[in-house]
Amino acid sequence: MDTERFVLPEAVDFVLERLNSRGFEAYVVGGSVRDHLMGRVPSDYDVTTNARPHQMKDVFSDCRVVETGLQHGTLTVVLRGMNIEVTTYRVDGAYDDGRHPNEVTFTASLEEDLCRRDFNVNAIAYSPRDGFVDPFDGRGDILRQRIACVGDPVKRFSEDALRILRAVRFSSALGFSIDKDTADAVNEMYSSLSLISRERIYQELTKLILGQSAREVMEGFSHVIAYAMNPSGSFLTSEDVRKAAGFMEGTSAYAEMRYAMIFGIGKDEETSRAAAKEVYGSLKPSRKSMNDVMAFIESRFADTSDEYTLKKLMGRYGEAFPEDLILFRRTVGFIDESEYIKEKEAYRILKEMKPCVTVGELAVNGGDASAAGLKGAEIGRALSALLDGVMRGEFHNEREILLRKLAEFR
Ligand code: ATP
Ligand code: MG
Repeated sequence: MDTERFVLPEAVDFVLERLNSRGFEAYVVGGSVRDHLMGRVPSDYDVTTNARPHQMKDVFSDCRVVETGLQHGTLTVVLRGMNIEVTTYRVDGAYDDGRHPNEVTFTASLEEDLCRRDFNVNAIAYSPRDGFVDPFDGRGDILRQRIACVGDPVKRFSEDALRILRAVRFSSALGFSIDKDTADAVNEMYSSLSLISRERIYQELTKLILGQSAREVMEGFSHVIAYAMNPSGSFLTSEDVRKAAGFMEGTSAYAEMRYAMIFGIGKDEETSRAAAKEVYGSLKPSRKSMNDVMAFIESRFADTSDEYTLKKLMGRYGEAFPEDLILFRRTVGFIDESEYIKEKEAYRILKEMKPCVTVGELAVNGGDASAAGLKGAEIGRALSALLDGVMRGEFHNEREILLRKLAEFR
């Protein structure tokens, strides 16, 4: 692939040209340039410019923009379905707390902006006018497949400890190794990750466990990952991370499934639940994501070859879940390949039959139960019992039959 020719999406070209036409410098930078040079299609584009925030606002006054972080110099231009983040050249000041730069200082120099970036591979800029600007030989690092800090790793990690985890995350996501000096600093300094907000940790962790080299990286840096997740060590150890590492390959490619493996492998029910609740909860996931992780933890030992069990799972977690659970159980070796194929097919057929799996789908409702003379809590109990009978195949979900059954409850 000819990586010298970087064909940018029209919307990105527009942003660069618009800035240029008003006399400003503008380059794409960071992940998109790196991804392009690796032969990957970039997922989003960041632009860096010497235009100051108020000047950017002016340049894009006729466009849809979101003031994402104007005080840090970032404006998002929304164009043709793309969100293009445009940021003023910056040097980050000191980080007293290892978390936030105390102040950001804008600069007129692209080189200074590249200097503040974390890794050489992330510090390459490109513009159609000037080609690649690559003062730290990021392209060399891409060829050598290595992650190395821009400048002195100890200094860079003291400025912002999140970079420690980012080094490990990029190693996993890109399949690169970590350069010796950088790796030494990771191993020496990882305890400063406790300074970092849980939200920032969570973002990096998720990309890490989904990375193409998650297995190797989780084995090699299990201590860093366990510490990032659970600094007190009370719910998760590096041994747990190593045990789960072996399952981070192949098909189980969504985050909740993988988090559940980290919390749920080799532990008893109660310990797993506590680990998921405390550790995953501390990362502040969405409620849905938390529920998804819990669903795997709670039902990982369910017998997915049994039709009644599958129906209960459908009712409780939705019809997509049993499929995922079957895959989960295959991935962690609870069932073998032939069981997996059989169970998957059996579930496909069951799902097609659209079985009744919730009280709401019964052919009778609370009103019918009242009419049959049931009161208060009896109504709920009766309907649950009917659902159970239907799911067990003891009788059909037909109104006549269920009305007769209701009458028997009295
Ligand atoms: P991805 O494809 O996963 O989004 P990315 O390289 O775009 O990877 P981002 O986290 O989106 O990563 O950050 C964009 C760019 O900002 C990085 O490439 C890097 O140049 C810079 N950057 C981000 N976070 C930091 C940090 N903590 N310290 C220094 N530079 C950073
Ligand atoms: Mg990015």
